[in-house]
Amino acid sequence: MDFRFSQEDEAFRQEVREFIQQELPPDWTGTGLLQEAKDGPEWEFCRSMLRKLGAKGWHSLAWPQEYGGQGSVTKQFILSDEMYYHELPGVDLQGALMCGPVLIEYGSEEQKKEHLPKIARGEAVWAQGFSEPGAGSDLAAVATRAVEKDDCYIVDGQKVWSTGAHRADWTFILARTDPEARKHRGISFFLVDLKSPGVTVRFLPNIVGTYCEIFFDGVRVPKENLVGKKNDGWTVAGAVLGYERSGIHRIAAARRNLTRLLEFAQQTRRNGVPLFKDPVVRNRLSHLFVECEAVRVLAHRIVWMQSTGQPVDYQASMSRVAGAEFQQHVAQAAMQLLGQYGPLEEGSRWTPLKGFFLRQYLYAMAATIGAGTAEVQRNIIALRGLGLPRG
Ligand SMILES: Cc1cc2nc3c(=O)[nH]c(=O)nc-3n(C[C@H](O)[C@H](O)[C@H](O)COP(=O)(O)OP(=O)(O)OC[C@H]3O[C@@H](n4cnc5c(N)ncnc54)[C@H](O)[C@@H]3O)c2cc1C
Repeated sequence: MDFRFSQEDEAFRQEVREFIQQELPPDWTGTGLLQEAKDGPEWEFCRSMLRKLGAKGWHSLAWPQEYGGQGSVTKQFILSDEMYYHELPGVDLQGALMCGPVLIEYGSEEQKKEHLPKIARGEAVWAQGFSEPGAGSDLAAVATRAVEKDDCYIVDGQKVWSTGAHRADWTFILARTDPEARKHRGISFFLVDLKSPGVTVRFLPNIVGTYCEIFFDGVRVPKENLVGKKNDGWTVAGAVLGYERSGIHRIAAARRNLTRLLEFAQQTRRNGVPLFKDPVVRNRLSHLFVECEAVRVLAHRIVWMQSTGQPVDYQASMSRVAGAEFQQHVAQAAMQLLGQYGPLEEGSRWTPLKGFFLRQYLYAMAATIGAGTAEVQRNIIALRGLGLPRG
C-alpha cells in the first residue's frame, strides 16, 4: 500500500505552506475555524483570508471544472490539513465544503449559477440551520414548518446552535413540508437569505463558540430555493453531513495541539525534572501520537475513496467519531498536564500557552457527536460556579 501523495500534490502542499508563512500573523492566537472566530479584529482577519483564498481559487479545488473548480479532492484535503494545522483561518467549511458540493449534486442550474461563484470567491458566508430545541441527535424531529403558498414557501420555526449565523448571509435549513408523513419523509431542504423579512438571528453568548438562534416568522422563501425534491430533504441533509464528517479540519487542529503539548512537556520542569521525563507523561503522549496516526489514516481513506469515485458512507461517520474523540483526548491530556493553570482564561498572565488550551478544551468537549450542546453549556457554567481560577 502506498500512502504517499503524488509529486503534484506535494508541490501544492509546499505552495500552501509558503502561503501560510506569508499570511499568518506572528502573534496570531485566534481560531483556524472561520465560523468560530470572535467578533471584531479576529473575524475581520478571517473574512479577509476568506477573500484571499477565493482569489486563489482555493475554495473550489474539489469542485468539477465545469463549476470553476479543479476537480481535486486531494488538493482540497491538503489545503484543509495545512491551514487547520497552522490555524490560519480561511477554509470555508459551511459554504465551500458543505453547501457548494451539495448544490453541485442536488441543486438546480439556477441555484448553481447564483450561489457557486459567490462561494468560490469567498463573498458569501453560510450557516447551517439544522438543529432545533427539540431536534438535535434526533434531527428528523425538526418542527420548523414550510407551507407552500403561491410562488413561495412560508417558513415558521426556530433553529439553534447555528455557528456564526449572526455574520452569515445565507443559511441552509431543514423544514417540515408534510406533517402527515413519517418523520424522515416529510422534510425538505431550503436555502434561506438571512436578510429576508421575518428572520431574526440572535447570538448566544458563551465561551466555546459562536452559536446563534435563528427565528423564522412567516418568512417567504421562493420556491426556487428548494434543493432537491420536496419531502426528500433527508437525502440532501445526509449528503451535507457526509461532507461535514469527511473533513480533516478537527484532526489537523488537534494534531497541532498535540505538538504544542509535547513542546510544553519538553520545556516545563516539575519538581526540578522536565515533565517530559515523567514516564506517565511520556506514555500518555505516545498513545496520543499513535491515535493521531490512526485517525489520519481514517481521513486519508475517505479522500482516497472520493478521488477514485467511490461512494463514501459509514467511513465518514467513523472518521468523525474517531476524530472528535482524538480531539477530546488531546484536550483532556492538556488540562491534566497544565494542572491548576489549565482552566485559566485566555489573556491571563499566569496561564501557559497564552490560555490557548481552555478554549480548545471546551470546544473539544462540545464538538463530540451527541455531546449535547446544551449539556456542555451547563457543565461549563457549573465549572465556573465551582470557583475555578479565572486568572
Ligand atoms: C461545536 C458545535 C457546533 C455546532 N454547530 C451547529 C451548526 O452550525 N448548525 C446546527 O444546526 N447545529 C450545530 N450544532 C449542534 C449539533 O448538531 C447538536 O449538538 C447535535 O446534533 C446534538 O444535539 P443536542 O446538542 O441537542 O443534544 P441532544 O440530542 O439533546 O443530546 C443530549 C445527550 O443525550 C444523548 N442522547 C440523545 N438521544 C439519545 C438516545 N436516543 N439514546 C441515548 N442517548 C441519547 C446524547 O448522546 C447527548 O449526550 C453544533 C454543535 C456543536 C457542539
